[in-house]
Amino acid sequence: MTTDNTIKIGISACLQGQKVRYNGGHKASHLCIEVLSRHFDFIGLCPEQAIGLGTPRQPIRLVGDPYNPRAVGTVNSDLDVTDALRACGHRAAEQLRNISGYILMQKSPSCGMERVKVYRDNGYPANGGGRGLFATALMQARPDLPVEEDGRLHDPVLRENFITRVFAYAEWQQLQAQGLTRKAVMDFHARYKYQLMANNREQYKALGQAVAQSADIPLQAFAARYFTQFMEALKKPANRGSHTNVLQHLSGYLKRALSKTDKQELQRLIDQYRKGIVPLVVPITMIKYHFRRYPDAYIERQAYLQPHPEELGLRNAL
Ligand code: SF4
Repeated sequence: MTTDNTIKIGISACLQGQKVRYNGGHKASHLCIEVLSRHFDFIGLCPEQAIGLGTPRQPIRLVGDPYNPRAVGTVNSDLDVTDALRACGHRAAEQLRNISGYILMQKSPSCGMERVKVYRDNGYPANGGGRGLFATALMQARPDLPVEEDGRLHDPVLRENFITRVFAYAEWQQLQAQGLTRKAVMDFHARYKYQLMANNREQYKALGQAVAQSADIPLQAFAARYFTQFMEALKKPANRGSHTNVLQHLSGYLKRALSKTDKQELQRLIDQYRKGIVPLVVPITMIKYHFRRYPDAYIERQAYLQPHPEELGLRNAL
């Protein structure tokens, strides 16, 4: 989080409605403009404009090896902006240190994150496609940064996963700004225990062991390695089964406090969620209600109970 407490997210400028596309148009994203902008500050960047291609302009496309493509003009292939786009990605990664995530425009030879068309010498696109050159450089330079495409954010599971990662990343940035300590890393890990368990049970265990055995490792080295593994673990979206497992763990903390009827009701809601009858927000709301009545200091700190603002309603669709 930045000093003004608003999380900053980088974004392909055309998604903000800026008329920066090759044809003078935009790709305004309703989700970003109408919903997410109430909670985040967007920093828009059009890499193709930033490297000096005007608008309107000759479109570019990716050609050659899908793992190491070049970006050239579709009309005049002598126009080669490969190096310029890569440099732009590295510059953005360096200059936008305060961002906590990035939303990219899909299918673009500059911004696309996956399955962007890469044309072979025979004129046909390669199977599977590739990644835009700005996106490649940005993601290589900032491998822990949460990055998603606008198109993929229409999937409720991917959307919730991305926003969870953005808030976790911002919280870590805040810790770094305050001066990282070993205790702060351990508290962070404890706070994300159930979130990690929901996303990636194996990595949750591995990270727990890494934290427990970290005393002899220099703090900065340990913290950097921990956070990379942590962000990697969160990339795996939680599913109905893993959420159910976490809900059961959380309900275990209430077993002495709740009456038999309350316990049965909570179990009924968890079971209804497991079967897909009600969304995740239903049992979570009931669990939060019970923890307000019977507070538990450890559970109160858990990011899992509120990984992002309630107003986003992200768990209504899970
Ligand atoms: S996809 Fe990227 S390069 Fe293309 S117009 Fe949008 S911001 Fe610019």
